[in-house]
Amino acid sequence: MDPILEQYQALERKVSAYTPNLDTKRLFEAFTYADSEHHGQLRKSGEPYIIHPLAVADIVADLGLDVDSVIAALLHDCIEDTDATHQDIAKRFGEPVADLVEGVTKLTRVQYVTKEEEQMENLRKMLMAMAHDIRVILIKISDRLHNMRTMEYQSPMKQREKSLETMEIYAPIAHRLGMQKLKWELEDLSLHYLDPVGYKEIEEELAARSSTHEEFLAAIQTRIQKRMDDEGIRCKVYGRVKHTYSIYRKMYTQNKTLDEIFDLYAFRVIVDDIPECYNVLGCIHDMFKPVLGRFKDYIGTPKPNMYQSLHTTVIGREGIPFEVQIRTWQMHQTAEYGVAAHWKYKQGMANKELGTEADFEWVRKLLESQQDTDAEEFVRTLKVDMFADEVFVFTPNGDVINLPAGATPIDFAYSIHSAVGNHMVGAKVNGRMVQYDTPLHNGQIVEVITSKNAKGPSRDWLKIAKSNEARNKIRQWFKKEKREENIATGRAQFESELRHAGMKLEAITAEEVLPHILHKVRFGTLDEMYASIGYGGTTSAKCVTRIRDEMLRLGRLQAEKAAQAAKTTSESTIFPGNAAPQPILKGSNKHSDSGIIVEGLGNCAVKFAKCCSPVPGDAVVGFITRGYGVSVHRADCPNAAPERRKPEEADRWVKVSWVEGSLPCYKTSLELSAKDRDGLTLDIATALSAAKVKVTALAARSMPDGYAVINMVLEVKDKTELNTVINKLNNIQGVYQVLRTNGK
Ligand code: MN
Repeated sequence: MDPILEQYQALERKVSAYTPNLDTKRLFEAFTYADSEHHGQLRKSGEPYIIHPLAVADIVADLGLDVDSVIAALLHDCIEDTDATHQDIAKRFGEPVADLVEGVTKLTRVQYVTKEEEQMENLRKMLMAMAHDIRVILIKISDRLHNMRTMEYQSPMKQREKSLETMEIYAPIAHRLGMQKLKWELEDLSLHYLDPVGYKEIEEELAARSSTHEEFLAAIQTRIQKRMDDEGIRCKVYGRVKHTYSIYRKMYTQNKTLDEIFDLYAFRVIVDDIPECYNVLGCIHDMFKPVLGRFKDYIGTPKPNMYQSLHTTVIGREGIPFEVQIRTWQMHQTAEYGVAAHWKYKQGMANKELGTEADFEWVRKLLESQQDTDAEEFVRTLKVDMFADEVFVFTPNGDVINLPAGATPIDFAYSIHSAVGNHMVGAKVNGRMVQYDTPLHNGQIVEVITSKNAKGPSRDWLKIAKSNEARNKIRQWFKKEKREENIATGRAQFESELRHAGMKLEAITAEEVLPHILHKVRFGTLDEMYASIGYGGTTSAKCVTRIRDEMLRLGRLQAEKAAQAAKTTSESTIFPGNAAPQPILKGSNKHSDSGIIVEGLGNCAVKFAKCCSPVPGDAVVGFITRGYGVSVHRADCPNAAPERRKPEEADRWVKVSWVEGSLPCYKTSLELSAKDRDGLTLDIATALSAAKVKVTALAARSMPDGYAVINMVLEVKDKTELNTVINKLNNIQGVYQVLRTNGK
């Protein structure tokens, strides 16, 4: 059979499923009319044009809209692209259908000079149309969704343009109308064209872990379902990985890797009535550990777009946090289809309580506000309302400045001009002086006080500023104005970081090493690197991590060997037989404040991976991050699973262990001299083991005159313990001296 006719019949089945007494003749006539009107026209894909209106009608039917909307969707491009007129359509299908088609056409026709203007106006038209007949918008969004789904056939220019518009106008409107499902798809499709690399990265990373994800999702889902069955609660449990754009935005705004994103997973428990929602919540909190401050009751307080659900984030045995959304089936419909669910209930279900006009309070308010404000003001207030992650403030002249949410007077000043920021000496909000770190709110009037004699931005501003624009401009200033100072600050930061990593400046500046180091950090000279650290172009942590990698590669850091030795001695207290002379690596193992020992590394920064939150006693492994320090995972954390480790990062996985016993311990080094003999080192190791002290390094050297010198680093609680150890060592046969050698 003709695939197009087949597509039509599927549509007819879909519509009749929710439309009692469907006039199939009228629907079919709309299809044949559109088909003949578009006859000979082709989509960019080369297919006959009619597949587009059919697909749009299908989306409209998915939303459960009435038959007039479905017919209007079939005809939506007729006025624009064919000879058909409003009268033709009105004659055949009635005035309401013709009005809907014309409404969609008007939105399609909007053309403007500048992008900004176009978007503003587009938005305004949308909202006007929405207020007039919301179905126009729903058809238009469906139209856009299908166009986005088939965007691959368009030119790259067009792809970008349409994606941007979709991201900035259609997705927020879908959100505002509560149509989550459409919104997600629109966002993901747009992101695919707006940042293909970022999109692909996430998709690939997710795909690489899909089996782990699926396993986790299935396991939790089964557990929840089982508990609900036990409790006698009728429900359906769904689990999913969050959609790509929401992950992307979290990674981007919070500057996190996929591993660090707090809640990648979301589960939904759908039940029959509201009391059960709260029962389910109780069970979930009983089964898993709730994360404080993450519970939200959108049933008691629905979102403006009518969304209702209970939200909570919990952590299971796996140490992986996930979100659980609990809602009734009715709430679920509203969450998925938003305003469109209105029709679904009006048409299909007997229950008339839902979908009353009161649910669309905000549409009504919109209409009202439209009457007493001019169009621009109207759009401005709406934009404020719709784009929650932005803040709109005013200059004293009334110009609107658009900043990211949480922006401060510093962001404001730099968004006006870099000179304004660089000369700022104070800021006023609504006429009152404020601190620079005061977050700005919608509608505030912000005034920047400048002075010719201003000293310029301070480095703290980099931490306060929220917008990339401001931060970049501040960095530029430091780069240009303060080279000497940058070098000094940068150098100090770098040296301190280097010390933390257990490396010495002399070691890396050695003639034969320095060129490799500079190449690795990609700077021409050390001063350039210092300057860059100073103005914030890079960080000392980043540089030191790279340098450490390079030193390891060059074999200049015997960390591995030392770690090995330390491990052998401290764990089994058996010293390897005739040990080759080996220097003690100073500071090879140190306590860090975190209670974690990173083998082979200095007292580096340690953070606990959020994915698995290890606690003392757990088997743990460490990962040297690119940013800062070592991230500690539980050994059984999926993110640390050996099969998931990338080969090129093999050397960044390091052994870590918990500091044992009661803290604090103090590090001390001893040098023991003795007459060399077989079994000497074994005796020493045994004595240390008997004294129960932690040995972090041990090295023996045979001297030419038949003596041996043994250096060791120990950790002791106090001097009494140290003296006991020294006594024990002194009692070993052949030992003639035990000295403390701190600082050597
Ligand atoms: Mn279209």
